[in-house]
Amino acid sequence: GFKCGIVGLPNVGKSTLFNALTKTAAAQAANYPFCTIEPNTGEVAVPDARMDALAAIAGSKEIIPTRISFVDIAGLVRGASKGEGLGNQFLANIREVDAVVHVLRCFEDDDITHVEGRINPVADAETIETELMLADLESLERRVDQTRKRATGKDKESLAMLPVMEASLALLQDGKPVRGLNATLDVEEQKILKGLNLLTSKPVLYVCNVAESDAAEGNAHTKAVAEMAAQQSAETVIISAAIEAEVAQLEAEEAEMFLSEMGLEEPGLDRLIRAGYKLLDLITYFTVGPKETRAWTIRRGTKAPQAAGVIHTDFERGFIRAHTIAYDDFIAFKGETGAKEAGKARDEGKEYVVADGDVIHFRFNT
Ligand code: GDP
Repeated sequence: GFKCGIVGLPNVGKSTLFNALTKTAAAQAANYPFCTIEPNTGEVAVPDARMDALAAIAGSKEIIPTRISFVDIAGLVRGASKGEGLGNQFLANIREVDAVVHVLRCFEDDDITHVEGRINPVADAETIETELMLADLESLERRVDQTRKRATGKDKESLAMLPVMEASLALLQDGKPVRGLNATLDVEEQKILKGLNLLTSKPVLYVCNVAESDAAEGNAHTKAVAEMAAQQSAETVIISAAIEAEVAQLEAEEAEMFLSEMGLEEPGLDRLIRAGYKLLDLITYFTVGPKETRAWTIRRGTKAPQAAGVIHTDFERGFIRAHTIAYDDFIAFKGETGAKEAGKARDEGKEYVVADGDVIHFRFNT
C-alpha cells in the first residue's frame, strides 16, 4: 500500500493526530474487513462521496473504499542527522514512506513545552528540513565518488546516474531540498532520482496544528506556513489535533453536531487523508455492481492492464479489454445501461491510461 509518514518536532501534536487517525480506522474496522492496524501504522479509508452516488444508482449492497496508510515517525530533533534523539532510526523510517506529512505547532500553550522555547512553525519546518538535507548530503557524498569512478570506466548505469546525483548534490550543497529537481527531469531520470531514495526528494505537505478556536480560520502562524508552503508549491492543511481526537470518539451524528459548532463542515482528518492521497499522486477508479461499489487506487498514468492487476494478478495477465464509463457519464445517464445507450461506454485496450473516476468492467482470459 501507499504510505504517508507523519513527522515533526516533539510536542507538536503528532501522536494526538495519529491516535485520532487510528481511532477512526478502528471505528471503520467494524464496517470494513481487511483493516489491519500496526502499532505505528494506521490504515484509513479514503473518503470519497462519489461512491455513495454510484452505489445509489447501481443499488449496491456494500460500499468498499480504498485505503492509505499513515506511519507515526517519532523522534526527530535538531541534530538527528548526526544521530541525536532517535536520529538514524527516524531517518530509516522516513526512507520507507512515499510522502511526508510534516506537523507544525501553530498553537500557543505555556503548559506544553516547545523544544526550541518559542512558537515559530516556519523555523521548525526549516529545522527539520535541514536535518533531512544534511542526511541526504551525507548519504549522497558517500555514494557519488564510487559512481564517478564507475562512470569513468564507462559503466552504463553509473553514466546514467551521475548527472542526477550531481544535480541533487548541487542543490543540497546550496541548502535546498532535492524535491524541486523532479519536475526538470525526464521519466528515466525521475526513476533514477526515486532510486536514490533521498529524504528530501519525497513530496511533502504541511499540517498546521492549531487550537480549537482557530480550527475554522487559522491564525497568524498558519498564514506564515501557507506562505512558505506556496513558495515550495506544497499544500497546507489546518487541523486541530485536539478536535480530531474528540471527534474520533463520537458517533457520526454527534460528530457532525460537534463539528458544526466549531464552524467545520467535515473532520480535518478527511481533508488530511484526501490531501495525502493527492500528494502521493494517486487516483481512483471504481468497480460498480449490485453486490458492491468499490474504489481502487492506482498511480496517475497507470495503464488498464496494470490497473486491473490491483484487483487480481489474473486480471492483468489475462487482460482483454476494459469496458469503461467516465464517472460523470455514469451519473448523468443513471448507470451502465443509460450510458451505453448514450454511446458513453468505451472498450479500451491495453494502452489505455485509466482516468480518475472511471467506472470499469475488466474482461479477461482465465
Ligand atoms: P508529539 O510529541 O508531536 O507526538 O505531540 P503530542 O501529540 O504528544 O502532544 C504533545 C502535547 O500537546 C500533549 O499534551 C497534547 O495533549 C498537546 N496538544 C496536542 N495538540 C494540541 C492542541 O491543538 N492544543 C493544545 N493546547 N494542546 C495540544
